[in-house]
Amino acid sequence: MAVYIDVIVDISVNSLDRIFQYRVPEELLDAVTVGCQVNVPFGSGNRRRQAYVIGVDTVLAYDASKIKDILGVTKAPAATGQLIALADWMHERYGCTMAQALKTVLPVKKSVKEVKRTAYFLADREGAQQLLEKSRKSRREKARVRLLEAMLKEGCMSKETVTGVLQISASTMKSILQTGVIREETSQVYRNPVRQRLDGWQEVCLNDEQMNAVASIWQNAAICREHWSREQGMHLLYGITGSGKTEVYMALMEKVLNEGRQIIVLIPEISLTLQTVSRFYARFGSQIAVMNSRLSAGERYDQYMRAKRGEASIMIGPRSALFTPFDRLGLIIIDEEHESSYKSENSPRYHARETAIHRAKLEGARVILGSATPSMEAYYRAKEGEYVLVKLEARFEERPLPRVSIIDMREQLKKGNRLALSLELREDLSQCLKKGEQAMLFLNRRGYAGVVSCRSCGHVMKCPHCDVSLSEHNGRKLICHYCGYETVKPDKCPVCSSPYIGGFKAGTQQIQQVVEKEFPEARVLRMDYDTTRAKGSYEKILSAFSRHEADILIGTQMIVKGHDFPDVTLVGILAADLSLNADDYRSGERTFQLLTQAVGRAGRGRKEGHALIQTYSPDHYSIQTAAKQDYEEFYQEEMGYRLLMDYPPAAHMMAVLGSSEDEKLLETAMHYLGLFTGKIYAGKDLHVIGPAPASVGKVKDVYRRVLYLKHENYDLLVRIKDRLEEYIEINSGFRKVNIQFDFS
Ligand code: ADP
Ligand code: ZN
Ligand code: ZN
Repeated sequence: MAVYIDVIVDISVNSLDRIFQYRVPEELLDAVTVGCQVNVPFGSGNRRRQAYVIGVDTVLAYDASKIKDILGVTKAPAATGQLIALADWMHERYGCTMAQALKTVLPVKKSVKEVKRTAYFLADREGAQQLLEKSRKSRREKARVRLLEAMLKEGCMSKETVTGVLQISASTMKSILQTGVIREETSQVYRNPVRQRLDGWQEVCLNDEQMNAVASIWQNAAICREHWSREQGMHLLYGITGSGKTEVYMALMEKVLNEGRQIIVLIPEISLTLQTVSRFYARFGSQIAVMNSRLSAGERYDQYMRAKRGEASIMIGPRSALFTPFDRLGLIIIDEEHESSYKSENSPRYHARETAIHRAKLEGARVILGSATPSMEAYYRAKEGEYVLVKLEARFEERPLPRVSIIDMREQLKKGNRLALSLELREDLSQCLKKGEQAMLFLNRRGYAGVVSCRSCGHVMKCPHCDVSLSEHNGRKLICHYCGYETVKPDKCPVCSSPYIGGFKAGTQQIQQVVEKEFPEARVLRMDYDTTRAKGSYEKILSAFSRHEADILIGTQMIVKGHDFPDVTLVGILAADLSLNADDYRSGERTFQLLTQAVGRAGRGRKEGHALIQTYSPDHYSIQTAAKQDYEEFYQEEMGYRLLMDYPPAAHMMAVLGSSEDEKLLETAMHYLGLFTGKIYAGKDLHVIGPAPASVGKVKDVYRRVLYLKHENYDLLVRIKDRLEEYIEINSGFRKVNIQFDFS
């Protein structure tokens, strides 16, 4: 039987979109696998070209008289080859095109022109030392201090490090260059200096619990190096906030580096602050490359290339850093594994967790998922024995957890208080300000989209079939985004007949007005989408608050991440229900995570903290368990709901997302997809729900509808997806309809 391979010829980016088929001669059969590189005769002149093998098949797809033999195998799967194999898997698993998958995993080559590289060198050590001492005395020269300290230690740094890791602005750099203590050089290629540590770094002594965590992960990992298996290579590090997860990561990273292998650390974009990165930087110095979305495509490519050339052995970045072309990958860490930003919202709609596991499998690396509030998926897999569960249960130095009170907002209305701040919270705020301590007010607006609830009794309008909140449409209708159920919006609460039923309207700006009126002497900072649009403003607000330049910080979920504020002793959570009632089956989980994180902001320093949760549903388990900081209890309750309703991780769910400018056509097309699904798989255990309008029903004149399929078996859903793809391909009715698949 002849074997054919699909290859991508290495010419330029544009050709990525084309797949060519070649024949494999008998003697090369054993050597060819997906991901390896081969030489092929290409074009009419049959010029010898490099090509990547992306698939192996037995069916000839082209004219038999024109098919050519490959010339030879040049490389076993290398970094790029491995990534192509990964793309192949993503293409299959997530139902995107091969080209989309390749574009996601491969660093995009810009032009062929070599990029000039800029580096900074220490030109005058004594001068720099003097300048540093002078700058340390000034409050306004923090950036200078940071730069000079690093420069004195490192001697030479790349421009990417200076701007990306140290976050030095162009104007600061310019003013320092003018003093002459640092010199700039631009060349074709430069080498990073050998690895060094920053002054600030001190050897840490792990406590017993941390040491055990490192030992158990390392032991398992040692076994898995020979025979990689899921059970041994995958770890879930579940550690409460402040238990030292980062210290455990770093101890393991050290071991991996000593083996001569490389590391990818994924951190959600929003937590990729200077404070986080500097901890890694202080320990591992210039071995680190950092990626974030603020980098231009070219800068990102440079960071990739640093990794590829072996100049950096650690890549820290958001989701996309997962595709760093390391060829001796030893470890992938996913910090705050539960974050929703690890799931891509564009095709390929991949999840970093699953994709990391697959990459690690291909390359014999280990994976550590870390979280204080693990995702339902990860904890479920750990319980099932697929991941090794490692726990850190004590806070470092036994700093106590904050005291938490739940405020029942239904009582406030009875007490005649209609403000978004409860009487209790106002009292605590005034105490906090008197003592000269800081407070954070967190307005939980996540996932809020027209949910209707009663302010008198807390009743929320829900779908009778799906048990998720209904959303208001055009002020009159309530719709379920899973099954399409519709009902009219009531003008009285169906439970208590109160007329106070409607959507929650207060935003961060209104809260700020209330606070400023109530506490005119307090200095208030606000952080939300509006105040953080300008470049660098996010960091600016956070650092101003950490320097205690304000007493109260008001904000959305942005303020609950990543930063330590030792003077914060009070956290107020307003409208804890908003995320609870989001029209999504994950709303209970998201609420628990957000509340737990928000509560954890209080009392990070020496003083005891206090948190107040304002809610209309004080008895809901997400709120109760978050107040107790009891993950295990939350998990049990939530899993009960998922099992009952067949939501992931109890089952798998595939969303078929349709969009079109033609509403009628879209409706018909989705209807037929639903019918066709019933034809391909008639088993009773497949739940087909919808089609319903998507949670954002219409964007820029494009209508959107969703069909949900639920089944225990992921592979069965993938097979159905394949069949639907064929059906869409051959039916002309789908030409003006865009269909995408989304797995969860
Ligand atoms: P997590 O990532 O679990 O929230 P961190 O790693 O940020 O926890 O640790 C919380 C704080 O405790 C940090 O300031 C960290 O430096 C400190 N810390 C944790 N473990 C140790 C240790 N073994 N020695 C010294 N400091 C530690
Ligand atoms: Zn009511
Ligand atoms: Zn429904």
